[in-house]
Amino acid sequence: MQSPLFIYNTLTRKKEEFKAINPPFVGIYVCGPTVYDDVHLGNCRTFISFDLIYRYFLYLGHKVRYVRNITDAGHLEGDRDEGDDKFAKKAKLHQVEPMEIVQKYTLGFHNVLQAFNTLPPSIEPTATGHICEQIEMTKKIIENGYAYVVDGTVYFDVEKYNKEFSYGQLTNRKLEDLIANSRELDGQDEKRGPLDFALWIKAKPEHLMRWPSPWSWGFPGWHIECSAMSSKYLGDVFDIHGGGMDLQATHHTNEIAQSQACNHKAPVNYWMHTNMLTVDGVRMSKSAGNGFLPGELFSGDHPVLERGYDPMAVRFFMMQTHYRSTLDFSNEALQASEKGFERLMSAVALLEKLKPANESTFDVKKFEQNCYDAMNDDFNSPILLAHLFEAVKAINSAHAGTVSFSKDDLEKLKKTIHGFVFNVLGLKQVGGTQANDATDELLGVILKLRQQAKDSKNYSTSDMIRDELSKLNITIKDTKDGAAVEYK
Ligand SMILES: [Zn+2]
Repeated sequence: MQSPLFIYNTLTRKKEEFKAINPPFVGIYVCGPTVYDDVHLGNCRTFISFDLIYRYFLYLGHKVRYVRNITDAGHLEGDRDEGDDKFAKKAKLHQVEPMEIVQKYTLGFHNVLQAFNTLPPSIEPTATGHICEQIEMTKKIIENGYAYVVDGTVYFDVEKYNKEFSYGQLTNRKLEDLIANSRELDGQDEKRGPLDFALWIKAKPEHLMRWPSPWSWGFPGWHIECSAMSSKYLGDVFDIHGGGMDLQATHHTNEIAQSQACNHKAPVNYWMHTNMLTVDGVRMSKSAGNGFLPGELFSGDHPVLERGYDPMAVRFFMMQTHYRSTLDFSNEALQASEKGFERLMSAVALLEKLKPANESTFDVKKFEQNCYDAMNDDFNSPILLAHLFEAVKAINSAHAGTVSFSKDDLEKLKKTIHGFVFNVLGLKQVGGTQANDATDELLGVILKLRQQAKDSKNYSTSDMIRDELSKLNITIKDTKDGAAVEYK
């Protein structure tokens, strides 16, 4: 009997049994990247976590519509409508069209997520492709009395909204406290209240990305795009909304407010948030000097990194921490994960070579149950991995002849391991972590050349060969039986 799936809901601050609104369909919306710069590793963690969640729903047989947007307009530097438009600023700096910025970083984002073996979402809508929907939603919020217009800009009236609904419910804060902690309005401010936020922003004449609206030539505020696009593709009320925990206090709080002000319905049943990322215990940031990008992590081209790490080893590393816990990067932890990943993959390969016995000495049924139980407990991937490593041990023991599997159990074990390792965790075999026959032979030739160089006292050549191989993470060990290689 399979255990029910429980999800930690940020809105209620507890684990709740998941019940889809319209089973077997499941609707998931995740806030995507603002494509004005290279995607950060912290964002990658969020998208890889939701990839795990998406994959598990698919594995359970649900029909999932997974929507992850691309913010390609309307995102100002400050979350509260201040500062320059992120795209316009970058475009000006590089003297290109804002859409060239969008194109470049959207491609980069897709390439990085592909390297991490994430599945593409079912729909990837863009803010600029949904200007009409955002205008319509803004109109409705004004009609319902929760927004006001000042000189072509439309603001959401938070205090008015809070009289009927609870504005701070997602972070469990009272409006008075939020106001007390917010910046005072200065005399120049058009807003009525310090927490009010823009739904539509009147563009300055030099602004390149702008559209006509009933209020002005302008562009949508950042928060309205997610409300407009999620309701368009998933309905006014849908199952799951996710994102990084940094989005909780402003962006997601404002999304709830907009949707309720528009439809008078709470838009989302389960709010899910991923935790942040640290490096050697310090929060990752440019100013701390530890803000390496995914590409730098793969190549090792950053002062913090001892060397590069394969995207699959990094994915495995991320899966070792639960999505709601802080994930701490260090060379040591990454190298340990690399070894763990290789051990897991070697066992998966070895599994194919095992021969069935008359009876089993390993409880495969219990193992399968444990895997489901781990994932059904709020997608607990580290516990799942712990169970997978119990199977790794059993597979290695079976190879050594101390554990056996019956024919049926061996089939079930293969099915379970393949399902959870490849389909759910999204890991895949990596070429190059283990040498194949051809590379073995090539290495033999290289070692022979090195030996000849050494014999003729040409040490500069023999050292060069050793150093170059070392850059490829291959160490030469001189033993009494001759030189041998070791993969780091
Ligand atoms: Zn969003």
